[in-house]
Amino acid sequence: MINLILLGLPGAGKGTASEKIVDKYHLTHISTGDMFREAMANQTKVGLEAKSYIDKGNLVPDEVTAKLVEERLSQPDIKEGFILDGFPRTTNQAELLDGITERLNKPLTSVISLEVAEETLVERLSARFMCKDCGATYNKLTKKPKVEGTCDRCGGHDFYQREDDKPEVVKNRLEVNEKMNAPLKDFYEKKGLLTVINGEQTPEKVFEDVDAVLSKNK
Ligand code: AMP
Repeated sequence: MINLILLGLPGAGKGTASEKIVDKYHLTHISTGDMFREAMANQTKVGLEAKSYIDKGNLVPDEVTAKLVEERLSQPDIKEGFILDGFPRTTNQAELLDGITERLNKPLTSVISLEVAEETLVERLSARFMCKDCGATYNKLTKKPKVEGTCDRCGGHDFYQREDDKPEVVKNRLEVNEKMNAPLKDFYEKKGLLTVINGEQTPEKVFEDVDAVLSKNK
């Protein structure tokens, strides 16, 4: 059983690493950002509540986010394990997660932090674009679709830039997340779960390093 947390600032490569991990280990990928975007698109109660925070690059309140995660982790499809991507983002959320994993009897097995310089993050986020149909992530500089204008994953043709990847919002998002990141790493370091990986490497090399950690957990 692998129950993994991927830490890293927006743009560190958590999404790309997650895709590769899912391919090899069949874990369930749980991204709170994706869940919120879906909830906003469907205009659910959580979606409407989250929108005002997300559009400004601020964090959605911890209780709302933790509840969403607990509901998701309670579903029966999580058999081989999970990757949490984008949660927890604060030590308070990490403490709430301790309660959740205990209640559900799904203990964490590793925490991996992908580390990338701030200049790289800004560059990556402003070049990032998404498929409107399936949410797959691309990058104008480093990860274009194989066939121009066609999504590799679902064949869709409509793409967009996330509202919160626009330059006005990116700066605040990084500030908000940076402030929280160091204490979060300390939290998991103390539990002996943390491994830091250099996210400036190629996606293949990043995955090699991730894989070295996960193969020990299996
Ligand atoms: P992401 O796609 O992970 O960058 O998330 C997009 C936005 O969703 C963030 O800027 C937050 O507003 C919100 N969000 C996602 N995950 C969390 C979380 N764990 N806690 C609070 N807000 C979150």
